[in-house]
Amino acid sequence: MSLVLDDVTLTYPDGESRLTALDRVSLEVPAGSLAAVVGPSGSGKSSLLAVAATLITPDSGRVVVDGADTAGLGRAALSALRRDRIGIVFQQPNLPASLTAVEQLQLMAHLAGRPVRAARARALELLDAVGLSAQAGRRPGRLSGGQRQRVAIARALMNDPRVLLVDEPTSALDHERGAAVVDLLAGLTRERGTATVLVTHDRTHLAAADRIAEVRDGRLRVEEAAR
Ligand code: ADP
Ligand code: MG
Repeated sequence: MSLVLDDVTLTYPDGESRLTALDRVSLEVPAGSLAAVVGPSGSGKSSLLAVAATLITPDSGRVVVDGADTAGLGRAALSALRRDRIGIVFQQPNLPASLTAVEQLQLMAHLAGRPVRAARARALELLDAVGLSAQAGRRPGRLSGGQRQRVAIARALMNDPRVLLVDEPTSALDHERGAAVVDLLAGLTRERGTATVLVTHDRTHLAAADRIAEVRDGRLRVEEAAR
């Protein structure tokens, strides 16, 4: 089991009281499988990803990443865990404008303290896996929205994460390109054995999922997909 959320509750300050963003949420995502998270805007989807990413510590409950219970870890250990075992793709790809596609990926090796030149072969291999071999030398300004999102996905895989967390990667794409990005994610999940969580607002993407988690007002209902 590569990602486990166990009875997680998260509240935010809300004036005099607290707003419950996640209400006793449990979700298990085995290695090599994809969980889709759906639900209306404001239901808690991004909060769930932030907790899984260890970017926010929940009020209660456990988050276990690749067998490591995150509760006992301090800031430095958590940041190492994120760097080495978690890949995150945000809604906006956030690619530095001055770097080419292959350099965007090499930057991840640099941030992990690994030699940048040696990372080039892996970066090119991952760009090939997301169908961007021909665009490796292009800067973001010369890539389409879908291509930029593919670079962000390849970048998230650069440190070979066990857990891949993806927040509405297709919101800026048309339907066809969105479906292609989701198919790509599902394929990479199976090939690379990541435990993947995909937040999406598009129900047609659910066909690619092994389990579907529906969030409503911070509560989660999980269904095993009939695959
Ligand atoms: P979704 O991604 O499904 O749109 P979010 O997880 O972003 O939902 O938000 C869930 C709820 O928590 C919303 O009511 C939102 O306004 C609130 N919320 C999200 N982030 C914060 C924050 N940093 N501080 C206070 N409230 C927040
Ligand atoms: Mg969100």
